[in-house]
Amino acid sequence: MKKHKSKQKSKKAILIDLPPLNSTSNPEVIYLGKGNNLLEVNLRKSIRAKSVRIRILANQNIELVIPHNASLAQIKQAHQFLQQQEKELRTKLAQLEPIVAIATEIPKSLSIFGQEYRIIINISTSKETVLHENDQLIVCSRGNESKIEWLLVNYLQQLIAKEISVYVKLISKKLQVTYKKITIKDVRSYWGCYSTNGHLSFSWRIVFAPRHIMEYIVVHELCHILEHNHSKRFWQLVEQNYPEYQKAELWLKQHGVKLHNLLAR
Ligand SMILES: [Zn+2]
Repeated sequence: MKKHKSKQKSKKAILIDLPPLNSTSNPEVIYLGKGNNLLEVNLRKSIRAKSVRIRILANQNIELVIPHNASLAQIKQAHQFLQQQEKELRTKLAQLEPIVAIATEIPKSLSIFGQEYRIIINISTSKETVLHENDQLIVCSRGNESKIEWLLVNYLQQLIAKEISVYVKLISKKLQVTYKKITIKDVRSYWGCYSTNGHLSFSWRIVFAPRHIMEYIVVHELCHILEHNHSKRFWQLVEQNYPEYQKAELWLKQHGVKLHNLLAR
């Protein structure tokens, strides 16, 4: 009986998978080391990166950043460079204080402008800040849960203030209307509000809605500068500037309560 050749001795485990050149899946994971002592490294192609670099992120993940247009040879070099740095990386990581996560009521993830972000809490830090790394928001604080929540809410309020003012500027130009100031509020009775003294107010929880919903809310409020009521003319004006306004209204009806309950103190 012909004996099956015993399986070829499995080749040394390939630690590094070269991404296909046309790969768009980003990030890919590279493992350094062996057995259960693997070090995970995310490969990220960056449009801004001019050269290869290795980063240890605030959440202690490691990233190998390569220019998006790197050639296969350059990618190979980057991988070699990474392997050479393994010992150094392990030393650096060992020197960092471990990230200690604590159980909180803070959601594990949040949808911000329609994109899902993981919320990471890092209490092994003296910094009091929120960092934004790819699809993660890292809340750094030694404080208690309410402090962590405050930091996160504060970060999101500043984010929506910045984003919404861009839209207000753009759309007010288009509508040729003027306003005096924009205020972001923690308010449940409205998403946006225009008062005849030229003040615009918006709920900060618009940050949890997709961008096009934010756009609709801005269009709606700025149309009120021209039409103070919800008359037929008002809705025509809204439609001219945001044709799918009915869909946006429906979205807010369906998701509004959920948005108001997020990070509700
Ligand atoms: Zn209105």
